[in-house]
Amino acid sequence: MSVKWGLIGASTIARQFMINAIRARGDGEIVAVMSADPERATAFAREHGIPDGVSTLDALLGAGIDAVYISTTNELHLEQALAAINAGKHVLCEKPLALTSADARRMVAAAKAAGVVLGTNHHLRNAGAHRAMRTAIAAGRIGRPIAARVFHAVYLPEHLQGWRITRPDAGGGAVLDITVHDADTLRFVLNEDPVEVSAFTQSAGMASGQGLEDGAMCLWRFGSGVIAQSHEGFTTKYAGTGFEVHGSEGSLIATGVMTQKPVGSVLLRTAKGEEELAFDREDLYTRSVRKFHAALAGQGRPAATGEDGVWSLASAEAALLSAKSGKAVSIDPELGSAQ
Ligand code: NDP
Repeated sequence: MSVKWGLIGASTIARQFMINAIRARGDGEIVAVMSADPERATAFAREHGIPDGVSTLDALLGAGIDAVYISTTNELHLEQALAAINAGKHVLCEKPLALTSADARRMVAAAKAAGVVLGTNHHLRNAGAHRAMRTAIAAGRIGRPIAARVFHAVYLPEHLQGWRITRPDAGGGAVLDITVHDADTLRFVLNEDPVEVSAFTQSAGMASGQGLEDGAMCLWRFGSGVIAQSHEGFTTKYAGTGFEVHGSEGSLIATGVMTQKPVGSVLLRTAKGEEELAFDREDLYTRSVRKFHAALAGQGRPAATGEDGVWSLASAEAALLSAKSGKAVSIDPELGSAQ
């Protein structure tokens, strides 16, 4: 049976990745798309072969759909998700789930009460590279994990230099955009929760004047004592990306893996020498939809659940609070962040 989807948001991410991902395996179809602008809705629908382009949430939710994919700007996610959940629709929502972890918790609670599936579209944990790292760590191949480093400072392409660098009210800034992903990927690869973060943010020229950060460096502490650092940004054109985990018996060094495509490499270095780890190259977003469809059929959970989305947002929220206060902040997805 095919899952009938409604898209909330005529966005770049839907256009570039998610429309193809929903259609990739023949078990999902897109019935309607909603844009706040009726002309954009019609044009987007026509451009992507979607039967219906609508401009209200009621029209979308009434279009005979099973699930919605929300990829509007961040301040709209909460209200749109709650409306979809109240209408009995399953929800795959973009990160950050909302502007605050308290609002994200409301989404999780509403989905639970309504008996619908809520997933967070954290694509990176769908990357074969990150799953290979998680498996290698769980198998003890680097011994006891000690420290991790995430290199995720990129250059925001010109066509995306909009609300992310100009609109605090829409949840712009590098932390809500990229640090949420890094917090989730660290949690996923290390298979443990962060307990504390200390962060510096900067405005290096792109987001200047708006009170938004376009770069961040965070230090994370995990319950086991593992410490990690992550670097996020919009302004570095030539940095490259990577993810390293260093343990008592070995190191995992992944290069070119903080990206939207199933690319990059993972090297395991131990006393035995160096080994390039093999990993599957399934499209990250196709896997996200595949896992979501399976969850609707009662098989497992979405790749990243609503609770995972609360964790990543609580982590990013704590990083922002730390940058503002100059103090380390504890991360608590139940209560929000505190100094
Ligand atoms: P876009 O800026 O492309 O789209 C966001 C909204 O802006 C759309 O919903 C649309 O409003 C409006 N919009 C888009 N293009 C135009 C245009 N040309 N003219 C007028 N309005 C326009 O955002 P992204 O796709 O980059 O991000 C959307 C969401 O997805 C965010 O929550 C972001 O954090 C997340 N994201 C997640 C990624 C991932 O890999 N998980 C990657 C990229 C983004 P309307 O719908 O009303 O027409």
